[in-house]
Amino acid sequence: MPDDSRGAQLIGRFGQLVDDQIEKNPLRARRMLLAAFKAERLRTRVLPHRELLPSGRLDNRLTLEGVVGALEHPNQMVLTSMFMPSEIFHAMGLYPVIAEAIGDFFSGAQAEQGFVTAAEERSIPESYCSYHKVLVGATAAGVIAAPRLIANCSVACDANNLTFKWLARRLDAPHVYVDVPYDPSEDAVRYVAEELRELASATQDAFGRRLNEDALRACVGRSLRALDVMEKSLPLRRGRAMQTSMTVEMMRSCSMHMLLGTPQVDALMDLVQAEIPAQTRPFAGLNLLWCHSMPYFSVPLQKAVDHSPLAQIVASEMCFDQWRPDGWRHGADEPYLAMAERLVYNSYNGPAKRRVARLVDLAQKTHADGAVVFCHWGCKETLGASQLMKSALEEAGFPTLVLDGDGCARRNMPEGQVATRVQAYLEMLQAGRRS
Ligand code: SF4
Repeated sequence: MPDDSRGAQLIGRFGQLVDDQIEKNPLRARRMLLAAFKAERLRTRVLPHRELLPSGRLDNRLTLEGVVGALEHPNQMVLTSMFMPSEIFHAMGLYPVIAEAIGDFFSGAQAEQGFVTAAEERSIPESYCSYHKVLVGATAAGVIAAPRLIANCSVACDANNLTFKWLARRLDAPHVYVDVPYDPSEDAVRYVAEELRELASATQDAFGRRLNEDALRACVGRSLRALDVMEKSLPLRRGRAMQTSMTVEMMRSCSMHMLLGTPQVDALMDLVQAEIPAQTRPFAGLNLLWCHSMPYFSVPLQKAVDHSPLAQIVASEMCFDQWRPDGWRHGADEPYLAMAERLVYNSYNGPAKRRVARLVDLAQKTHADGAVVFCHWGCKETLGASQLMKSALEEAGFPTLVLDGDGCARRNMPEGQVATRVQAYLEMLQAGRRS
């Protein structure tokens, strides 16, 4: 999307036009959004953002293609949650789509407010996660077609546990719920693997297709490789210009969840492997670890961390949550166990101290100068853990800024306050470097 003020005004006008159609003519709203996303897809092919590394350009395109694919092929769409393994769906040629991807793209079209309102008018509380409000509003209004299958897991929040049940009841759609035990253990992995086998069976029933187990093993093998490539890139990042942005980091988190296991993400990993450090310039600015989601549309934050010589995001938590500190025990030859292990050991599963431990680990591996914890509107899990994150990171030597805002709905983003606090924080880090 163009980020100059004229472009932003045009997109704002477009968002209002979509907004007008949500309740009156949801099919027209869907067609308008699809046309805009297809135009953007074409732009990512013929006019990719030159300031990004090749992997960043590909991230934008892949997530866009995932969302366009789901909207264009509602008969092959699975509505799912971010932390749920998607390899079963990909191995069957389906289009999994998650709240975060829908929220990001609808918000990129400046159309999020109409969907938030559509959800609130259907009795969803104002304090609910806005990614989920956009998904609920769009699906309940009929802008997103009723899916043939809804499948979610209990990780990581109340929204993931409520939205999908609510939608399944309202749309009368088949629903699979994967309950993930709080404490990681081999027993928990086996329990979740059994649930994933049941998911495979329910998916075959819902779509009338057979799951090819060799294709599933291939998908899981690609997932494990992607996690390994990303993990090995961590110590190489500091001091190299990552040429990233909040938008790219959010798209990468979609690639690492909704699209994990696809040949496209395998190709993305070839780029990641090749470009650091070979294709990156030295970077003398500050390296920040970003915790949780990102308000990519926030102008003060864009100025602070998107393509700035003064500071960059060196790693973002949502691309690195699938982690077992002592290494994976199950490989692609045991695909259900491998997927279950990823889910059970996810740093977002269980008590906040597991997430905090991963954040400290990421800050240490990247030698970050500091960390930003972003408390997204309605995300009680992050809000509740934010002070624990801050104290643990600071104890480990990483000055931490806790910011409140919204990664999806502009109306909840206090831009003036964010600008002042981020500027003061970066000045403090710079002063710390000089002393
Ligand atoms: S932002 Fe928080 S509440 Fe919303 S989906 Fe993510 S983890 Fe759940």
